[in-house]
Amino acid sequence: MKVGILGAGQLARMIALAGFPLGLEFIFLDPAADACANRLGEHLQGDYNDVSLLAQLAERADVVTYEFENVPSTVAEFLSAHTQVHPSPQALAVAQDRLIEKNFFNGIGIPTPAYAAVNSLEDLQAVMADIGYPAVLKSRTQGYDGKGQSVLKTVDDLAAAWHKLEGVPAIIEAFVPFTREVSVIAARNIAGDIVYYPLSENLHRGGILRVSECKTDDAMQEQAQTYITHLLEALDYVGVLALELFEFNGKLVANEFAPRVHNSGHWTIEGAQTSQFENHLRAILNLPLGATTAINKAAMVNFIGGLPSSETVLTIPGAHLHLYGKDPRKGRKVAHATIRTETDKSLAELTQKLTQIADQVDDS
Ligand code: AMP
Repeated sequence: MKVGILGAGQLARMIALAGFPLGLEFIFLDPAADACANRLGEHLQGDYNDVSLLAQLAERADVVTYEFENVPSTVAEFLSAHTQVHPSPQALAVAQDRLIEKNFFNGIGIPTPAYAAVNSLEDLQAVMADIGYPAVLKSRTQGYDGKGQSVLKTVDDLAAAWHKLEGVPAIIEAFVPFTREVSVIAARNIAGDIVYYPLSENLHRGGILRVSECKTDDAMQEQAQTYITHLLEALDYVGVLALELFEFNGKLVANEFAPRVHNSGHWTIEGAQTSQFENHLRAILNLPLGATTAINKAAMVNFIGGLPSSETVLTIPGAHLHLYGKDPRKGRKVAHATIRTETDKSLAELTQKLTQIADQVDDS
């Protein structure tokens, strides 16, 4: 059985690593010659909308999936006319556009911050009376890790923030003074079975995820599961999906979802009975889903911009290091490490040690 993946970055690499024990083979489409998953399968090197490469991918893969949501939805539609594609092109289209995504959330009862579409500076000036300050202006498409975003604190910020977007369609959102950010990750297979991981509590800096901690028995677990169930069922979704939420005033509001495996779920490799990567494969192949229960306490720390010394990381008890085989570059995620340990106290101490190492190599 051969799985095709659009993209050959670290997420594709970790999917492939989880697939080898299941006897799976992989074929990737990615424009970068040095894409880091390319040592784990065949690599079709070229643009995502190169029709001849897409035709080859569709012919050689039994099922196609993707590691990121910013492939043109026409690509997923082309592929799904020729082979099985999971998740569906519809899930991709909704996740790609923040306005469509927020409308979709509201249509199925998932609360969001107040928001409005913005296509001009005049639109922005007009809607601020309803949205209020502070607020966040975001491009509707192509934004990730805080890119294409500005926080607006007063009316004086409007013009500069709008011009920075260079005229692309945008969305303005009320700024949520959240107490914390969490994500819920679930997998749904073709038969419609769903499994849910314990919540991840996430710390971002500069819009980029730094640390995720697995929270077993979290008071918000049930609420988060209800919302992600609505989303999975409304999209007739197949695969792993991550829903990112803000907690504010004891309630959850949705920020966005990722139609794929997610950075905040990397702790599941060592920290859960079945990793998000294995469950993604099981879901798209319509295999029984694996248990998602946490093993002990777990947290994950990202290395961004610079690589740590393996020895330094592995000196920490319970640490597992994942190097992606990517050249370090400013702001680039190049590795992560997971801590798995027995108690909350040791988790906090060991995670702090890892975070210090990550801060030393971080040049972003
Ligand atoms: P995003 O690209 O939408 O995931 O945003 C990146 C990060 O910016 C989030 O993880 C939050 O830390 C922050 N952020 C985005 N939107 C908002 C908002 N409406 N209110 C407060 N913080 C936000």
